[in-house]
Amino acid sequence: MLVSAKDMLNKARDGKYAVGQFNINNLEWTKAILLTAQECNSPVILGVSEGAGKYMCGYNTVVGMTKGMIETLKITVPVALHLDHGTFEGAKACINAGFSSIMFDGSHLPFEENLAKTTALVNTCDVLGLSLEAEVGAIGGEEDGVIGQGECADPDECKKIADLGVTMLAAGIGNIHGKYPANWPGLSFETLEKVKAKVGDMPLVLHGGTGIPDDQIKKAISLGVAKINVNTECQFSFQEATRKYIEEGKDLQGKGFDPRKLLAPGFEAIKAKVKEKMELFGSVNKA
Ligand SMILES: [Zn+2]
Repeated sequence: MLVSAKDMLNKARDGKYAVGQFNINNLEWTKAILLTAQECNSPVILGVSEGAGKYMCGYNTVVGMTKGMIETLKITVPVALHLDHGTFEGAKACINAGFSSIMFDGSHLPFEENLAKTTALVNTCDVLGLSLEAEVGAIGGEEDGVIGQGECADPDECKKIADLGVTMLAAGIGNIHGKYPANWPGLSFETLEKVKAKVGDMPLVLHGGTGIPDDQIKKAISLGVAKINVNTECQFSFQEATRKYIEEGKDLQGKGFDPRKLLAPGFEAIKAKVKEKMELFGSVNKA
């Protein structure tokens, strides 16, 4: 069964740990993350971008695959299926398809429009028992087609959005999607503290988890971050393991060409990476 992310994030906020959101791309990714969450007895959020949703043949396919796996693999830890950086249209489509959690990213819109559209979704998600993530202050990186330094959110705008009754809030604190540039100045804890002071109990979300040093991750959690998104790092792990398999010529030996064998090292690499992150975030045995 899929659940809203609300309870798991409120528990994480109170317990001073964070729940990982790991983005999925296909069957291997989804299976690897679900099995690792179960082995670690950790709650988990499966992130689906609109692009990944299209790639996986639409949101209905994603919901069907995920629900089927939860049943067949006997996954008992809390699992939320979450739209990542959704448009308003994407949010509506995922609500209709059966997602249990939605992110509406209106951070690129004029603030009043972000506010109005988030308000509409707060009411809908509330009625349906879904969790809703909003974003203030665009997160830098490839999301925008340019590698930016990462914007810092306006704490007053954060409060206005938080007061609408969203479940969680992504506030830019200098974080970036994808790889961090060598001259990246680090997370702005000053911004994080100001935002936290304004939004009170609201669980905060840290996007762009790939490449943020562990000590900064831990400090962010101590300051109110309860959800951390990891995407690129799993892709690197998968890539590295798959490259090694082929460069060692293993696909040319015996039945090494069988896709179930060819994709196995990447699958195991994702599992190891997810476990490492769950341990770092402190969500192990918190299911
Ligand atoms: Zn993001």
